[in-house]
Amino acid sequence: MTQIAPQPGIMEIDLYQGGAAHVAGLDNVVKLSSNENPLGPSPAAVEAYRRAAYDLHRYPSSDHSALRASIAEVLGLDAGRIICGAGSDEIIAFLCQAYAGPGTEVVHTEHGFAMYRISALAAGATPVEVPERERVTDVDAILAACTDTTRLVFIANPNNPTGTMIGLAEIERLAEGLPPQALLVLDGAYAEYVEGYDGGAALVDRRDNVVMTRTFSKLYGLGGLRIGWGYGPAHVIDVLNRVRGPFNLSQAALNAAEAAMRDRAYTDHCRAENARWRTWLADALAEIGVPSDVSLANFVLARFANQAEAEACDDYLKSQGLIVRRVAGYNLPQCLRITVGDESACRRVVHAVRQFKGGS
Ligand SMILES: *Cc1c(COP(=O)(O)O)cnc(C)c1O
Repeated sequence: MTQIAPQPGIMEIDLYQGGAAHVAGLDNVVKLSSNENPLGPSPAAVEAYRRAAYDLHRYPSSDHSALRASIAEVLGLDAGRIICGAGSDEIIAFLCQAYAGPGTEVVHTEHGFAMYRISALAAGATPVEVPERERVTDVDAILAACTDTTRLVFIANPNNPTGTMIGLAEIERLAEGLPPQALLVLDGAYAEYVEGYDGGAALVDRRDNVVMTRTFSKLYGLGGLRIGWGYGPAHVIDVLNRVRGPFNLSQAALNAAEAAMRDRAYTDHCRAENARWRTWLADALAEIGVPSDVSLANFVLARFANQAEAEACDDYLKSQGLIVRRVAGYNLPQCLRITVGDESACRRVVHAVRQFKGGS
């Protein structure tokens, strides 16, 4: 029997299940399982990525100053309190590594993003799952779950896979009520989809216990490049920079992200297209007996009568070349999460669900 063993907690991690991308025997499949932008990235980002090919022998920037400056300029933030990572997943991992550990607790909600639990366990901390109220973050339940060993509280706003969000007054009440040693992490992976919402940036500016994470993987269409960022109080950003590897992002990724951030016309276009087809998709599904909560993100959480119906519908969609996401792992076995695709994808999904439901 080997005595070589990983740290406690590591073997409790279930491997992350990514959205499927293929169906055996079918081409012309539409992938609606990973909340990707169906329109892809800004052409300016693709061009910036191409140009980086000429400098591949050079190490990348280690302080990410150009990307941080572009984020600060476009969103009106303080560039000195931005940190960039390989996806916001890496920022989440830095937060757990730096602030959690054995003997501490990391709070997340019952339908919260899988990486919170994974990163907490990887750091040796104890994840604590808190109930939601009808698929909406419940501030009182979170506050009740906090103890003097709580170090981090993660909420995604809007949340994945529910698509729901809570207002800034509720978030502020949460931040205000946390025990003094706990940090609130506002995961804003879908913040850009909400018209007029700053992801909590102003709250970060006002307080010393709130951090916001953001990503280029969703609205900006750069999931394949792995770029995200965090915005927080100076004392937190200083800590995270100490655990960050100096060359955690490639120059190609940095350049593409900067170009994507600066192309505001393109992001406005993507936001508007998403809103239009999200409404169309949710309304059309509701009409055929598949309701969903009002989604503020780029997906719809379709509710079925029970787990068996949801799985049967998923199987039927798959047979039609449509890949959506089962969310039993998020305690939502009766639901399917469907990314808002382009017009043709949305029409194909609705057509297939209608056939599954036995309509015409
Ligand atoms: C997609 C997603 C992320 C983004 O992850 P990246 O590592 O930036 O690709 C973060 N949080 C939530 C809730 C998400 O759905």
